[in-house]
Amino acid sequence: MLPGRHGAGIFDELHLPALPCDTEWDGSIAYLDRDGVLNIGSPDYINNVGELKVLTGVPEAVGDLRRAGFRVCVVTNQSPIGRGLWSDERLSMIHDELQSRLLEVDADALLDLILYSPHVPWAGSPFRKPESGMLMAARQLLESSGRIDGFDPEAEFHEARSAMVGDRRSDLKAGKSHGVRVFHTPEHIGLPAVLSRVLDADDEGDDIMSAPV
Ligand SMILES: [Mg+2]
Repeated sequence: MLPGRHGAGIFDELHLPALPCDTEWDGSIAYLDRDGVLNIGSPDYINNVGELKVLTGVPEAVGDLRRAGFRVCVVTNQSPIGRGLWSDERLSMIHDELQSRLLEVDADALLDLILYSPHVPWAGSPFRKPESGMLMAARQLLESSGRIDGFDPEAEFHEARSAMVGDRRSDLKAGKSHGVRVFHTPEHIGLPAVLSRVLDADDEGDDIMSAPV
């Protein structure tokens, strides 16, 4: 019962390009929910590439996060796979399309890592939000890639300015459990609504209860 990873196996090594502007990575990760944060969500899931609608300003916002030194990681619940409605391959096509639409607008808008939970809610997976397993897996992958020189696996938990952005309480719960700042964004606006707050290291984030269930 492991999370899925776009474009690779969960245990494969992660090779990342340098951040834009030669920014040195300080360990900060922007964990982003997908639906309602990057693209318009739907109660019936995003089932194919044709249903994917990127929210206004999202490519530039993802680019701004990386230009400010964040690694960007999408963490998304995708129970249709566990329900047998469609496959990992279908999801992969959607994520390829999402990535290319971001890069079309902003060449820095790379999604460094995309993890997804294919599990149904009743499976009790530690990788399905509101649990924080996907965020923990993401941190391990990103740190193993980005800090090969001088990376100390015994180092104290350190995520600098890390933050979780989501439109639902389950996103915020996962972020809180993981120990990072959490930001609620209205689903019809998404990431651009909270970008300046995420970039402000003095902003302590939102309360879990500020987001709808
Ligand atoms: Mg969402």
